[in-house]
Amino acid sequence: MKTLFKDVVYLDGFMDRAERGDLLVSGGVIEKAKDVPAEAAEGAEIINCKGNKALLPGFVNSHTHAAMTLLRGLGEERPLKEWLEKRIWPVEACLTSEDIAVGTASAILEMAKTGTTCFADMYFEMQDVGRVALEAGMRCGLSRGIIGENEASLVDGLTLQEHFAKEDLVTVQLAPHAPYTVPFDFFKRVAKEASLRGIRLHTHFLEAPWERKQLKDELGLDPVSFLERSGILEAPGAILAHCVWLEPKEAARLANTAVTIAHNPASNLKLGSGIAPLGRFLETGASVSLGTDGAASNNRLDMWSEMRLAALLGKGAEQDPLCCRAAEVLRMATFEGAKALGFEKCGRIKEGWEADLVLVDLDQPQYIGWEPATLCHFVVYAGSAADVLGTMVSGKWVYKDGMYPSMDGPEVIRKAREARKGLRLRARSRG
Ligand SMILES: [Zn+2]
Repeated sequence: MKTLFKDVVYLDGFMDRAERGDLLVSGGVIEKAKDVPAEAAEGAEIINCKGNKALLPGFVNSHTHAAMTLLRGLGEERPLKEWLEKRIWPVEACLTSEDIAVGTASAILEMAKTGTTCFADMYFEMQDVGRVALEAGMRCGLSRGIIGENEASLVDGLTLQEHFAKEDLVTVQLAPHAPYTVPFDFFKRVAKEASLRGIRLHTHFLEAPWERKQLKDELGLDPVSFLERSGILEAPGAILAHCVWLEPKEAARLANTAVTIAHNPASNLKLGSGIAPLGRFLETGASVSLGTDGAASNNRLDMWSEMRLAALLGKGAEQDPLCCRAAEVLRMATFEGAKALGFEKCGRIKEGWEADLVLVDLDQPQYIGWEPATLCHFVVYAGSAADVLGTMVSGKWVYKDGMYPSMDGPEVIRKAREARKGLRLRARSRG
């Protein structure tokens, strides 16, 4: 299957200027960019872009809980701990595997139409999540969240790795939920398994201010000692979601390691957790990616609004318009997330790289005046998910012109609505 984008504008987070030319996708990868010989494009689906449509690398949502679409709106306007313990966990305990499958499918509808091609999902019933993602044609990093000293959840995570080992669109991570929900010895055990088996980690870290104090009070550790002694730094890779309360000098310890900070500014603001010092993190050389977190705490799964918020909030917090530049934020939303999940040659527009792409309509008033050197700024500051015309993963459309070629959108919405109703009834009858 081939697709030829004729006279398209393309841009990634490493390019100083957008390029214009033809781009040929074949066999799931970007086969040729700029000048495509006519014979190479024979038999290709042709998308005539007339210099008025842009391709960006697909967005990688590097921290979410997709099926939480079913929990959206529950327990609004509460702090993290109360929200989790009183509103979220009791309802999650009633979720069936069918609920999780349909909640994930519903999340994929939202993500695909807003240009996300890959998501890092930490939840449970992850074989179902993976199955639904693969049916839809989405790329994903899957991790079974582990809470407490839960051997069965760890085994689930390891089984997941074996189950999806041969799938090009899936990587698996081990996910101790957070230092405050997993006893330290068990956290270390999970990190050790990850190192031994060559699996990456995914965890929540320093989301709320009390987490620093708790590390100190209960373990006698500061954040850097926790990272060093837990085994996180020895793992083949790790995503630390949030890091709102990690200090920049502590983040510097993460430079030149395989650890990535997943920044989730909207969820952090909405739960009143705080503002991570993104501008300072980027200065340290630590890898930083971008995520939305779950739909119950964001409440969008929209990487466009997350990019804009990250850039604006970062500049405002530092009182420095030069930090958190548009290209850096675009890189966080694409390449950095893919790298953190262990996907190679993913997140850039380059020959030989994965054809995970978003097609954007530049024929809109908010793009009047764009130039090759400023397109990135138009995308991050003026653009929005409404500009997405199509989303492609590994050379196949998962969303195009309002349609989902591999999913029955209205049917997913109908089932998700039903699941939400059933879930509320079950949660209520449990008290
Ligand atoms: Zn989370």
